[in-house]
Amino acid sequence: MNYSRQREVVLDALKENVIHPTAEKLYSIIQIEYPEVSKATLYRNLSQLADAGIIKKIDGLETSSHFDHNTHLHYHFICEKCGRVYDVTSSVAEDVVKKTEEETGFKITSHEIVFKGLCKDCQK
Ligand SMILES: [Zn+2]
Ligand SMILES: [Zn+2]
Repeated sequence: MNYSRQREVVLDALKENVIHPTAEKLYSIIQIEYPEVSKATLYRNLSQLADAGIIKKIDGLETSSHFDHNTHLHYHFICEKCGRVYDVTSSVAEDVVKKTEEETGFKITSHEIVFKGLCKDCQK
C-alpha cells in the first residue's frame, strides 16, 4: 500500500467514526480491513494530518490523544467519568477571540476550549 493510499485509509476511518476515536481505537478499526497498516504508519499519518490542519488532535484523559476529522471551529467536552469526547458548538463562547484580542492586544491565530465534567449519561 503506498503512502497516499495509507493516508486515505486513515482519513476514511476517522470520518466514519465521528466519536473522536483515540489512535488505539482507530488502529483496531483499520486492522479489520487493512491488517497491513502498522501502528507506526497510523501514528505517523495521524500526526502529519494534524500538523497539516486536516484533522484535529484532542488531548483527552487517557495518555493517547483523540482525533477529529471536523476542523471547523468547535469546542470539546470531555467526560471525566466515561472519558468520551463530545462536540460543543462555538456559539457558546461567541466573540471570545475578539474580546481576548481587545483585552490583551495579542493577535490570535487559533484557540481551543475544552470543558470537563460529567456527560448526561454519567449524571444519571
Ligand atoms: Zn460520561
Ligand atoms: Zn470534535
